[in-house]
Amino acid sequence: MNMEDWKKIDNTYVAKTYSRYPVVLEKGKGSIAYDDQGRKYIDLGTGIGVNVFGYGDEQWKKAVTDQLDEITHTSNLYYSEPCAALAEMLCKKTGMKKVFFSNSGAEANECAIKAARKYAAMKKGSDTCNIITLKNSFHGRTLTMLAATGQDMFHQLYTPLTPGFLYAEPEDLDSVRRLLASAKVAGIMIECVQGEGGVNVMSREFVQGLQEIADHDDLVLIVDEVQTGNGRTGSLYSYMQYGIHPDVVTTAKGLGGGLPIGATMLSEKLKDIFAPGDNGSTFGGNPVVAAGACSILSRLDDAFLEEVRKKGEWLKSVLEHAEGVSCYRGLGLMAGIEPAHASADEVVRKCLERGVLVLTAHHNTVRILPALNIPEEELKEAVGILLEVLKEKEEDGE
Ligand SMILES: *Cc1c(COP(=O)(O)O)cnc(C)c1O
Repeated sequence: MNMEDWKKIDNTYVAKTYSRYPVVLEKGKGSIAYDDQGRKYIDLGTGIGVNVFGYGDEQWKKAVTDQLDEITHTSNLYYSEPCAALAEMLCKKTGMKKVFFSNSGAEANECAIKAARKYAAMKKGSDTCNIITLKNSFHGRTLTMLAATGQDMFHQLYTPLTPGFLYAEPEDLDSVRRLLASAKVAGIMIECVQGEGGVNVMSREFVQGLQEIADHDDLVLIVDEVQTGNGRTGSLYSYMQYGIHPDVVTTAKGLGGGLPIGATMLSEKLKDIFAPGDNGSTFGGNPVVAAGACSILSRLDDAFLEEVRKKGEWLKSVLEHAEGVSCYRGLGLMAGIEPAHASADEVVRKCLERGVLVLTAHHNTVRILPALNIPEEELKEAVGILLEVLKEKEEDGE
């Protein structure tokens, strides 16, 4: 079977929710992926910010396979060591007090909304149920997370969505205050750096302003760290760079190192919000996944994060004023580039042809989310190719 055969089978039998690039990725090691022809790609996309230590990381693989030999799935009716160990590690590293485990970012966010609504219902009555999110945000694909996502294009044709979401302008505290005056609000949910929305880095003033508003009105402040978390932005979680103390932090993508996981962390204020039966997940906290996540999290220490920040600074220094870049936005190893001469899509396709995997985000942005441990030479080589592609004017082009 060759790529054409697999393409045909996939196109016939897999629901058409994705438009795939014409490549079958077959193997990977570190930051290098290989297709079915043995062609090599330097991966600056890491499965959308998931493979934080690249493909086939040895320590992660050992943690996962050792656990496979012990026990793979038990349900949440019983205790299991890796789940407890991961929850403890998350709380000790963040100061949060309790964790609910699920399997994806959307589910982690759903749990956060349940926590906020229950808190507000018990303190202020169940009509205090609205959640403010930001325009351009992305919070996931379930019907409630589509409602939370402040981008109209995700809403059409799926109405009625879950009610109770209001959208504020990013970087505009007055627009938040206007919404607060217009409805009974339970909480505010933000990404400190909007990922899918175009790698939009929120300012310290704005995020701290939201914290003040939340403190003043006893609102639940939720930070969605599904994409920004687990070292991506140069701190363990991005909120740590903003001097805030969220009530709920959600994460997913990078935490599992390549296996599905979601985590909803609850602060002191919310730690006792849930009682048995309030939420659940068959696979949540799965021992194999949790063992892998412990291996990832245990290595995201200060010295490692310092390296991430250095690589992030280097990225910014070479891309920010480069020819063909009309705008650079980023924090740590989460970067967005608006190309000056071509569409983001075209840049991604040309990079792919030249052996570099990059992503897009909204507003014509090329997004890069490299493995946090990508060797410098590989990062330099890949960024060199990206820079060449960005330089090309359309009329040069293939
Ligand atoms: C990817 C993402 C989600 C959704 O995560 P899934 O695991 O696909 O459900 C939610 N929020 C943010 C910020 C994301 O980047």
